[in-house]
Amino acid sequence: MRATILHRPGDIRFEEREDPKILAPTDAIIRLSATCVCGSDLWPYRGIQEVPGPTPMGHEYCGIVEEVGRDVRTVKPGQFVIGSFFASDNACPHCKAGYHTSCEHREFVVGAQAPLLRVPLADGTLVATSEAPPKELVPSLLATSDVFGTGWFAADAANVKPGSVVAVVGDGAVGLLAILSAKHMGAERIIAMSRHEARQKLAREFGATDIVTERGEEGAARIKELTKGVGADAVLECVGTQESMQQAIGAARPGGFVSYVGVPHGVQLQGQDLFFRHVHLHGGPAPVRHYLPELIDLVVEGKAEPGKVFDLTLPLEQVAEGYRAMDERRAIKTLLQP
Ligand SMILES: [Zn+2]
Ligand SMILES: [Zn+2]
Repeated sequence: MRATILHRPGDIRFEEREDPKILAPTDAIIRLSATCVCGSDLWPYRGIQEVPGPTPMGHEYCGIVEEVGRDVRTVKPGQFVIGSFFASDNACPHCKAGYHTSCEHREFVVGAQAPLLRVPLADGTLVATSEAPPKELVPSLLATSDVFGTGWFAADAANVKPGSVVAVVGDGAVGLLAILSAKHMGAERIIAMSRHEARQKLAREFGATDIVTERGEEGAARIKELTKGVGADAVLECVGTQESMQQAIGAARPGGFVSYVGVPHGVQLQGQDLFFRHVHLHGGPAPVRHYLPELIDLVVEGKAEPGKVFDLTLPLEQVAEGYRAMDERRAIKTLLQP
């Protein structure tokens, strides 16, 4: 098959690679219905994260099960399935506590920007829909595989509940879906931080009530101002830089919650500063598998349309353009059709 390989920063190629095979009896092979480029794929693409050599790319996926290993019990060929970027057994103490991305047997899923994908721990990792979904639902189902699940975790980890005043730092796909998630959880006010017109529009569509364009300390000060000097009950940090993390912590009220779901790059926190702020911090790689059944239902029942974050759709072979468009912020998120 031909698949996506990152050779060095900025150098994405769609080239010949061996078809994935069942390696462990608990594996499944799926044929992708759709895949996409993640904001986190841009870290190595931009050279901010090291590229050790030619690396297969992609970790967001949904599709039809093609083949299963001999120990796979619940997942069956022909089913439409969705999984998370970390394979998990859905059985260990961490999975039972809802933290599947800390599973004792977790394994990163790589190589999803391809026609075929090997998924480890298939029974624990994959969730099947009751029937094959209509084509128009595929983008939203694909979004549950990472960005919607991650946005949902951002809201859940920040204790968003009916009546909450929420601020969201970051207007990428995750930030936008964190807004949608906070809205579903009953937030009364949702302050989105964005300078980008198309993203502000989608933020409002997803439930944002206010838009703040300032960043860093000014951004935090603006949120204090909007909340009568109090700060937000919940701040959802969806970027992962020093500036965005400080902005998030600075915008929360004493006793408030800050969740962080953007992979941190160069973030350092000061103990004394944290000590006197009285904020709850809770974040990490989103345990998407924990939320998948609920999020799939929301999509299938037509109660949420997270697929709206895909504003560019390309054939998989044009994946390099998909990366460029996101890197240059011409696209929020690129959907790729194998
Ligand atoms: Zn992702
Ligand atoms: Zn586990």
